[in-house]
Amino acid sequence: MTKLAIVIPCYNEQETLPRSLQVICACLESLVSRKVISEDSYLLCVDDGSRDDTWQLIVKAHQEDKRIKGLALAHNRGQQFALIAGMEAVCVRCDVCITMDADLQDDPNAIEGMIAQWLDGADIVFGVRSSRDTDSWLKRTTAMAFYRLQRNFGVEAVPNHAEFRLMSNRALHLLAAYGERSIYLRGIIAQLGLKQAVVTYPRAARAAGDTKYSWGALFRLAMNGITSFSAKPITLIFKTGIFLMLIDIVIAIWALVSFLSGDAVSGWTSLILSVWFLGSLVLISIGIIGDYIGKIYIETKQRPRYAIREELFD
Ligand code: UDP
Ligand code: MG
Repeated sequence: MTKLAIVIPCYNEQETLPRSLQVICACLESLVSRKVISEDSYLLCVDDGSRDDTWQLIVKAHQEDKRIKGLALAHNRGQQFALIAGMEAVCVRCDVCITMDADLQDDPNAIEGMIAQWLDGADIVFGVRSSRDTDSWLKRTTAMAFYRLQRNFGVEAVPNHAEFRLMSNRALHLLAAYGERSIYLRGIIAQLGLKQAVVTYPRAARAAGDTKYSWGALFRLAMNGITSFSAKPITLIFKTGIFLMLIDIVIAIWALVSFLSGDAVSGWTSLILSVWFLGSLVLISIGIIGDYIGKIYIETKQRPRYAIREELFD
């Protein structure tokens, strides 16, 4: 029978966690009683360096119910790294892993459908929200624009999928081979090359508390979603340089004609010629250097991705 591990990243979730754990545990129990998953299936709460009582709540929950495990990161490294830490921890301790948010926005009732897809042969099952009604207008519009941008830059990713996802043990092992720091899980997982499936679910509003993603953090994630996969933004600089160089030719002809017909103020011709020529040359040069830097960038940041403060595996 399937041993399931549910990985839940938690950052300052003291308002939500007690209720979320209750709901998710009830779902786990129901799946066990219907023999969908094995009895030793469990939840792993990854505390992402919370500053509130999140970890204390996890410790208490673990004492009361051994199916609830915990992992505390020493620092707040962001949801992506909290998820990686959790997935690496459960990698050798489960058949399948499902990652979901701590705020009950991801529907626990979709878990059964995900496992069915896994039994059907999928190594990765993406939870895709059926609508974005629970989002603000601004978030909805920026998300749509971002997906379009990603598509234009050739990045493989499933639209309207966040971090609610099933991964087989095999997928977890493959993912572990990606040691990069500028991480955008959705992109990497989508390109692992394993069999994928989709389960749609209605995304609820946050159960309690406020979003832990500032616009800044969201923007950094979105940037990673493009720059860690695509060198196209740099080629855009290069192309702009080439385009300006072409315009430069037209400007040069116009400036020389003005000069020869005596219309030009003294000094203007040489000035305008150098400004356009140097401008486009600088852009082309930056484009070329940028191409190399882009390739070096990810390779050089060989920092440890996280430090584990405590572990609750007993
Ligand atoms: N989260 C995290 N570290 C962070 C920010 C968020 O582990 O630095 C967790 C958070 O506790 C939640 C999940 O990531 O379980 C999604 O965050 P949130 O619900 O705030 O994002 P939103 O749904 O608003 O996009
Ligand atoms: Mg949320």
